Amino acid sequence: MLSVAVVGSGPSGVYTAQALLQQSDVPNVRVHVLDRLPTPYGLVRYGVAPDHEKIKSLQNSLRAVLEDERVTFVGNVGVGGAEGVSPARLAELYHAVVYCVGASADRPMTVPGESLPGSYSATRFVSWYSAHPDVGADPFTLEARSAVVIGVGNVAVDVARILARGADELRSTDVPRAALSALAGSRVREVHIVGRRGPSQARFTTKELRELGALPGAQVVVDPAELARDPAYAAPDGLPGALPLPAAVRRNLEVLRGWSASGAAVGAGAASRRAPGRAEDARRIRLRFFLRPVELLERAGRVAGVRFARTVPDGAGGVRDTGSYEDIEAQLVLRAVGYRGVELPGLPFDPVRGTVPHAAGRVLRDGVPSPGEYVAGWIKRGPTGVIGSNRSCAKETVASLLEDAAVLARRTAADDPLAVLREWGLRPVEWSGWLAIERAEAELGRSLGRGPVKIPDWPGLLAAARGEHR
Ligand code: NAP
Repeated sequence: MLSVAVVGSGPSGVYTAQALLQQSDVPNVRVHVLDRLPTPYGLVRYGVAPDHEKIKSLQNSLRAVLEDERVTFVGNVGVGGAEGVSPARLAELYHAVVYCVGASADRPMTVPGESLPGSYSATRFVSWYSAHPDVGADPFTLEARSAVVIGVGNVAVDVARILARGADELRSTDVPRAALSALAGSRVREVHIVGRRGPSQARFTTKELRELGALPGAQVVVDPAELARDPAYAAPDGLPGALPLPAAVRRNLEVLRGWSASGAAVGAGAASRRAPGRAEDARRIRLRFFLRPVELLERAGRVAGVRFARTVPDGAGGVRDTGSYEDIEAQLVLRAVGYRGVELPGLPFDPVRGTVPHAAGRVLRDGVPSPGEYVAGWIKRGPTGVIGSNRSCAKETVASLLEDAAVLARRTAADDPLAVLREWGLRPVEWSGWLAIERAEAELGRSLGRGPVKIPDWPGLLAAARGEHR
């Protein structure tokens, strides 16, 4: 019998549990999937945009793993935090612990004005419309008329799309009440998505990019001259002496070229679906490139815009400043410049990479594998790749763990780790508690004439887990 704890019930944690169940080297394996939150699924619940129903439906396959009889979900148990259990104590309870804690912080931009009121990390905005209980129900008002989203990755596209999409379309999703009413009252009409390099270096994927052009009542605007500044855009079939462009980049450039050719792309849905009644209701998404943020501008104590240095390609994949600047007015700034791993007290941490040092998933302490400690997912390899990338990442870690299985099985493990956690004063929420939360969210949705609606706060979630939500 091998008793394994997986810390984190997002995709990397659940794929780790699944890889442990699917292997045949150690037939008798028991997996406890711990989570700080009383809810499972990590970023699939609290990161995937509510209007991405297909990706959200991944929850069904994650659920099948968590419902396996060899797996126990242990929610509401933090590891490494002030109120949780330390890695050293957790190691007493299991033969092995796999840390799949993701990358929960936002990368800083380190420019003046970054923390002005009205400037937020995109991570916070995503957490808000995803009802993450750490953010609270009501921190955003969308009084702004112009928003700047900094960064051209998929998170930037997600937050821009949510800003540009009408609240009517989000009613059928599980967006919490406060976020839905703030989005319904939103005055945002201009959303600028701004990259510091060129379109061929943008990190968004083509499917996500295309979606912007299909938003009812929204218009995507690109500047042909700005796109043409990118040598790869100007010569998509390849530059003399350069490697061919990756297919994904070519597809992105084709979409941008199509928008550029049409002058401005009116959302494909605009004609067939409900177009805005008044011209002033139309929302514009402006995709901008070669602008490096240098300062957030302030008026009356709040953000009033962003000053960008204009850049040009440096011929080596980077950019250099031209010496000229452009200010874009914005009363809301969302910084979508990437996630960052957070140090978990008691585990080694590489502050430069924002990851736990490891060798094929084995945690390294002072360069040496630490018996019984493993990592998978973003805390192992950094915040890159799509959800499916976590599957192969988890498999690699589990392969290392299985190689070590004979040694691990000689370590002590608790017969009933949950009982010990309770003795230590923790209050685990088990699968039945999560199912009670699901029922409460369905009930809340019914009372509002909607499908399931997420409960956005800790007391509400914990009460629901006890069957007491109203
Ligand atoms: P990302 O893909 O790493 O993109 C970050 C963006 O921020 C890049 O455009 C980067 O530009 C820019 N940036 C970084 N530092 C900057 C600075 N100091 N000033 C200005 N710009 C800066 O990160 P992400 O969008 O947070 O996404 C994280 C991961 O989640 C990705 O793997 C993404 O695909 C995934 N994700 C997927 C989906 C989906 O599949 N629908 C949705 C959300 C997230 P440079 O390239 O110049 O550094």
